[in-house]
Amino acid sequence: MAVRSALIVDDDPVLRELFSVVLENDGLTGAEFAGDGNEAQERLAANPEIGFVTLDLNMPSCDGIGFLRHASRLGYRGKIILISGEPPEIRESAARLAHMLGLNCVAILGKPVDFQQVTKLLAVPEPEAKRTERSPIDLKAVRVALDKGRMHAAYQPRLDIQCNRLAGAEALARIRDAAGNLLNTEVAIGLAEEHGLISEITWKMVDLICRDLMEFKREMEPGFRLSFNISNAVLGDDSFVERLIERIHSFGHSPQSFILEITETALPSDKSIALEQLTRARLNRFGIAVDDFGTGQSNIAQMRQYPFTELKIDKSFLLAAERDRFARAAIEAGAALGREQGLLVVAEGVETLNGLEIARNAGVNEGQGYLFAKPLPAQEFILRAREIQSGEAAFLTESVA
Ligand code: C2E
Ligand code: CA
Ligand code: CA
Repeated sequence: MAVRSALIVDDDPVLRELFSVVLENDGLTGAEFAGDGNEAQERLAANPEIGFVTLDLNMPSCDGIGFLRHASRLGYRGKIILISGEPPEIRESAARLAHMLGLNCVAILGKPVDFQQVTKLLAVPEPEAKRTERSPIDLKAVRVALDKGRMHAAYQPRLDIQCNRLAGAEALARIRDAAGNLLNTEVAIGLAEEHGLISEITWKMVDLICRDLMEFKREMEPGFRLSFNISNAVLGDDSFVERLIERIHSFGHSPQSFILEITETALPSDKSIALEQLTRARLNRFGIAVDDFGTGQSNIAQMRQYPFTELKIDKSFLLAAERDRFARAAIEAGAALGREQGLLVVAEGVETLNGLEIARNAGVNEGQGYLFAKPLPAQEFILRAREIQSGEAAFLTESVA
């Protein structure tokens, strides 16, 4: 459906004029214009029905980033086209920020502006759902590995970065071939999800982590929690949480020791089942995390619908943050949103001391990443946990260069 109204935000009067001519030629009259973020906020607040916004990122006084936050608070659902003369990696992280804020960013264009592309974008209907890609590891390899019991859990520590305490770990599935080589986790899990094996993997993981947690409890300080990943098919089973609680109890654990990590794509199409499952999980004191926040897999709109307790900012932000101010802005925005919603905020991808500092300054509560440890088999994880708990781990004594 063609868009009927527009807001053009740019500090360059020539560009605003060009836009007005192009839009009128396209049959769109009555467009509104703003010269900076503040003015744009006022216009959008006065007229939230505006169908699309073209937004220049670099403007004096209030830039495009400030405007994005404001549009998100207003719950703006129209199309947004970002326009910027910055290098591609900066443009991409600005687009991710828009997704993180739950906004419908349809494109990010460079300068000089290609007006033909703009008019094409305005005519495009909503995008189709993402398709999964084919992968080189075949399904048989995963099937055989499961049958032969060639799966274990690897653990990656999570630290309270405000006081350098070990808070818990994320459990990640590891699947091996006959020679003992690890299969690529992302690919193997993707195949398992596509071909109905993910439920089996999840239940095997539950047994593995319950067993390992018995040993961890002897070593770790009280309050240590394990998080693990939950997929679509699993959450769509309306007896999942009930059975999970039974299983956990049978090992002598309580749900309080576990966090379920969920992405938007993991939420079943039947929203009532997801809500029932997650509400039951909360009632029983499981933690529930929005995983990969900011990738478009998860956003603020769904965060409000479900009883989440924490938000995990995707690793791509921290990985880009040292050289990219938009990625830093996105981390700050994510942390602020999480706090506003009363959620614990976790940053993934802490690889360096600088990254740690950025997360800490943004007010992130917990961090996870290679700086602390790669995902490790249970016994190695225990050794690393001892180093962290005793204050011997190198990152605890080093400072930013
Ligand atoms: P995820 O949940 O986002 O897991 C975090 C991934 O980031 C892990 O990849 C981990 O090794 C990697 N990572 C952690 N710290 C850093 C860092 O500092 N830098 C960088 N560059 N990467 C870091 P992994 O283990 O390959 O897992 C990939 C994905 O597979 C996971 O992403 C998760 O979505 C899925 N997955 C793994 N285990 C399970 C499982 O048991 N069940 C389900 N449903 N999914 C699983
Ligand atoms: Ca995860
Ligand atoms: Ca993640």
